[in-house]
Amino acid sequence: MAQGPSFLPSPFIENEGSTPYSSITGFAFASLEGPILLTREPKTAECAMACQNLTHYFKDQVLHPNTAPYGDFRTNYWAAQQQALAPACVFSPADASQVAYLVRLSQGTNWPFAVKSGGHGAFAGPSNIENGIAVSLKRLNEIAVSDDLSLVEIGVGNNWMTVYEKLEEYRLAVAGGRYPSVGVGGLSLGGGQSFFATTQGLTYLHWALRGGGNNFGIVTKITMETISLTECKMWGGVRVYTENKFSELLQAADNLGNLVSDDGAKSAQIINFSFLEAIKIAAAVLTHSDPERRPAAMSEYLSIPALADTTRVRSLTDMTADLASLERALPGSDDSIILKARGTATFSLNTDILAFAKDTCFDEFDKIADIEGVKPMCVFQIITKGQLEATVAKGGNAMGLDPEEGPLFLLNTQAGWTEDSDSDSSRVKQALQSVIKRTSTYAKERGWGKEFQYMNYAGEFQDIIAGYGEDNKRELVTIADRYDPEAVFQRLQPNYFKLVGAPVNNSF
Ligand SMILES: Cc1cc2nc3c(=O)[nH]c(=O)nc-3n(C[C@H](O)[C@H](O)[C@H](O)COP(=O)(O)OP(=O)(O)OC[C@H]3O[C@@H](n4cnc5c(N)ncnc54)[C@H](O)[C@@H]3O)c2cc1C
Repeated sequence: MAQGPSFLPSPFIENEGSTPYSSITGFAFASLEGPILLTREPKTAECAMACQNLTHYFKDQVLHPNTAPYGDFRTNYWAAQQQALAPACVFSPADASQVAYLVRLSQGTNWPFAVKSGGHGAFAGPSNIENGIAVSLKRLNEIAVSDDLSLVEIGVGNNWMTVYEKLEEYRLAVAGGRYPSVGVGGLSLGGGQSFFATTQGLTYLHWALRGGGNNFGIVTKITMETISLTECKMWGGVRVYTENKFSELLQAADNLGNLVSDDGAKSAQIINFSFLEAIKIAAAVLTHSDPERRPAAMSEYLSIPALADTTRVRSLTDMTADLASLERALPGSDDSIILKARGTATFSLNTDILAFAKDTCFDEFDKIADIEGVKPMCVFQIITKGQLEATVAKGGNAMGLDPEEGPLFLLNTQAGWTEDSDSDSSRVKQALQSVIKRTSTYAKERGWGKEFQYMNYAGEFQDIIAGYGEDNKRELVTIADRYDPEAVFQRLQPNYFKLVGAPVNNSF
């Protein structure tokens, strides 16, 4: 690598080293010494200068418009709204010092950037940027298992499937994402719901970063505790149920969510409500970390007759691949349905709120059924008491979740559609927001409402940091002021869930 220009000081990298719990080990801070700050608005020439500068020093790591690799980069986002953005150039740093160089360059030229790990943001801007610098983390793809096999360092350019494939060589696993293509970076900084969340808690990063999103720096790698699955296998799969089984299903979800036995703690459940053709269905993703043929904790679910069933003893990679098939088959996740929207809310868990949310989802879905190619879905998950306790035991987080309030019902609405017309887009978003609003009103009237909104499932109309509570928000702002006094990660990385409020103020 060539040396950087002289106006740039040596990059400052904080290196925490391995800790007993999962943590950030490489972290590029914005608070570099001697910033060259422009106080006026940046001009296009300055971005061209920033891209030229990067090209000069990191030639093969910069992509430019009107080239095939640049085009490929843009198509590799989950949502069409992100694909539509055209960055001035794309930079792929190869290590933490190059990440710090990029931050310093952005600070010096006042030119904005966006950082992409897996690219699963659901609106325009989380990880791509019009006429700014898109930072692809794909070269930060190291996976290094410690000699005693207890820890693994994971570069944030990996997706979860590559992590699981590598770890299976060591007969190990980690509590990461459940879908293969989701990025290590975005999922971890948003919180990190996994198959093993009840025993492992949410992702264990530093306090501010556990839920702090992209507000504090660019994380280059994380260290996670490894999990040793018996014979490197688990139990899991998808069971599909028809509408006449929905109330039994919600009862099973509530019972499993409240189960505090060891067996219950090894279990995880997700219920996806949507349509198969025009028929209402629920696809339940069920897992248990022991490779038992019929885990006792799952007996209630297994006693409800299913239309289809893929559950079996299998490896984590096989389970993750199963969800890739579900991702393709389920409405709202189909690769060909490219415009995306989502939203989220959290409530105390009981069967009444589960049933109300399910009915509200289908009621709102009916209102947009005439939209060409629309595929809406509601995803129900449970944050168990054990999961919240495990998170606290590993050092807590900024999300303001108290184990005493658990178990919690985590609602995620999402939809895909094909026509990029203003009317279709606003009707779909309005339907998703109505599910959130109506269910939240119903819950609040009964004392079941929670302020917490899960960043990883949130829509652009939601103020995630405010939902963490006033004290946590104040603490996060104090931490940001201390480590990022020039507010580089607020001003120059402007999108996603910032400390100041929702990305878009378009609530219906
Ligand atoms: C099909 C599907 C399945 C999912 N499954 C799960 C699941 O099992 N559990 C769960 O918790 N969530 C899940 N999610 C939600 C997912 O975690 C979020 O969408 C997450 O933001 C995706 O991260 P990404 O890296 O793929 O996306 P990106 O768009 O690349 O990143 C999201 C945000 O994080 C920032 N970011 C990424 N990496 C870094 C970094 N290293 N440093 C600083 N900022 C960074 C980006 O700038 C961006 O603002 C799923 C989403 C989809 C679409």
